[in-house]
Amino acid sequence: MRKAGLLDKKPLTATRGMLETARRDKGTKKRIDAWHGVVTYTEYESRYYFRAMISVNKEILEVDLFTRRDLALGRTDPRFRIFLDREKKDFESWDMVNEKWSSAKINMLETDDDRYSYTYRGRNHATKATLHIVNGFLYTGCMQDVEMAVLDFQAGIRKTELSRKHKFITDVIDSYMSMVPDRMPVDWMKFINDRVLEHSVFYTKDTKTGYCTHCRLHVPVPADVRHNTLGKCAQCGSSIIYKSWKMQKHTTYRTTVAILQQCTDGVHYVYRQFRVDMYTERQEYYVPEIRIHEDQRSLFLLGSRNGMAGSLKNYEWGEFRYTGIKRWCEGGTVKHSGFYGENYGYAKSILYTGNIKKMLKDTCLKYVPAAEIIRSMGRERINVLAVLSDMETGFSYEVFWKMGLKRFVWERISREGRNGLVKIPRPEGQKPWELMGMTKEDMKQAVRLDATDQQMRIIQKAARMGVRLADDQVEFFDRYTGNHAVLDYIGAQTPHRIIRYLKERAGVEECGKDVHNEPLHFWMDYLDMIRQMGWNLRDRSIFFPQDIKRAHDEAVAVYAVWKDNADAEKMRAKDDIMRRNAAEIKKAFCYSDDTYMIKVPECYLDFKHEGNAQHNCVATYYDRAVEARCIILFVRKRLEPDKSFCTVEIQNDDGRFKVMQNRTAYNREAPEDAKVFMKKAVKEAQGIADKIVEEGKRIRQKAAG
Ligand SMILES: [Zn+2]
Repeated sequence: MRKAGLLDKKPLTATRGMLETARRDKGTKKRIDAWHGVVTYTEYESRYYFRAMISVNKEILEVDLFTRRDLALGRTDPRFRIFLDREKKDFESWDMVNEKWSSAKINMLETDDDRYSYTYRGRNHATKATLHIVNGFLYTGCMQDVEMAVLDFQAGIRKTELSRKHKFITDVIDSYMSMVPDRMPVDWMKFINDRVLEHSVFYTKDTKTGYCTHCRLHVPVPADVRHNTLGKCAQCGSSIIYKSWKMQKHTTYRTTVAILQQCTDGVHYVYRQFRVDMYTERQEYYVPEIRIHEDQRSLFLLGSRNGMAGSLKNYEWGEFRYTGIKRWCEGGTVKHSGFYGENYGYAKSILYTGNIKKMLKDTCLKYVPAAEIIRSMGRERINVLAVLSDMETGFSYEVFWKMGLKRFVWERISREGRNGLVKIPRPEGQKPWELMGMTKEDMKQAVRLDATDQQMRIIQKAARMGVRLADDQVEFFDRYTGNHAVLDYIGAQTPHRIIRYLKERAGVEECGKDVHNEPLHFWMDYLDMIRQMGWNLRDRSIFFPQDIKRAHDEAVAVYAVWKDNADAEKMRAKDDIMRRNAAEIKKAFCYSDDTYMIKVPECYLDFKHEGNAQHNCVATYYDRAVEARCIILFVRKRLEPDKSFCTVEIQNDDGRFKVMQNRTAYNREAPEDAKVFMKKAVKEAQGIADKIVEEGKRIRQKAAG
């Protein structure tokens, strides 16, 4: 707004009537009982007083704002002169006290009139003539309060300005959104009905018929039909759940579906995600009402230099920047709230597979039977973008799938395209079994078993020791020990003997690899110590001790002496690493309460002293802690911070912390309150660690983008 000339004219001054009214407005004392005591305040009739005039050329309206306080003190000048230009849609206010311009709206002007120590009954003062001038000029109706009229006018202008600014943003979004194909495949609704929705047959016992939500026909039901049991529709053959008319008033089903399409520019691909809701209710004879709402789109490239993940652009449907307008927005800029808040955003979905083969035929994924694999997963929702990215960047889905390792492939997809127990390097001209460090025969065994990830890991570990397990031996380890440290010793003795010892001495059939399986736990500790000391593991009497606990305790004593004599130089280097580890661990494990606190060991001596004081073998965990294979913590009483109390082992399983052991002296279980303390400490540490990881991701994304 052009400010020149606006102040040439003098402002309006308070009339005698205004001064008189303000002086008479002495206020009423009020009191209310607040939670912190009785509050007294003064309530006045009016806060602001207004006068207004229109400029000679009829272009500008000047509204002068006076405060009650000023008038009551006999001041006749306004606080603000507000200039409003109706044609140019602009406004500007002159602050009379501070002598400066302000572009704030009327409700944001600093009038030095604190509303908190006293209140107003909400009326501003203006004569009928003033109301007439203001409302007439601003087209704000008849006799609206001056403050409200000005605010309406100013807010309207700001909204238009904002939408002009927003247009730059929305134009870019719209240019991408316009590349998304208009049409859905002809069998899209059939796909949702057949593969996505969960169907029921609503039956009445007396008629022996029911209504199928899949084929929407009345179909016969078995005579012995029962509520909430699974079955097949006699008409369409669809898998359904039997629901009784009497028992089931209504049903709801909510899921997420998605489709991948090639964009109209022929270069981009788009992932489109839809929320699907199905309702049925008895009054409507259970005829399903299905709502499908597209809420996410991600555009990406395939086979580009930065990979698919690097080219992702996310969009979501929602309110654009508090404008009240719903449209496609940049991902992450839409604020969701309310009861269904958690159901927004990118999610796992059931993918439409009908168009995938054709769509991928000219891409780097042409050999991957993605449609077949994903289709075979039925109604399981998958992280489509993560799996697609995994297909693009390394894991040979086609090779494993074609070999027949279906469970292995499914598990990887369920893990969102991440490695499980089996780590598979990028294939580089090697056969898959060579890649995994096993023989062709081992791979055949895996195919024969339709091996899971864990079974594959067991075969792989044995293979690396040069051992071939029988099928039932693979199944034994799979069932009772899983991917356990015991597999590291499988080359030292025959699997047959190890299994027998596990059954007879370590009692794995009763408690498996449970952390409370003490014999197994002590045996593993023992083997780890004697391996480090170079004892002969092929000697059966050494490998399979008669009395596990005694052998363990003796080994601890020998190990301590041996370790003390170990190269001091090496120890110093390790201590340096341990101190760095400890600094990281302390960031997360900083919890304490009235009774307990956590001490993080920082060097070998810390481990050794704790081991001596507690009569446990924590010192043997030193190397593992240095290599960050576990986290060792000492729980201390706050009043005795230097006295050993409990020793805790925590596993970091892919970012998830888990307490493996919490023991007090002589390997006895920690007292209940110390366990509760540790639980809280782990929970807090998890939160902190997750935040650190998130932060790291954000920084990397920032750096990348
Ligand atoms: Zn049917």
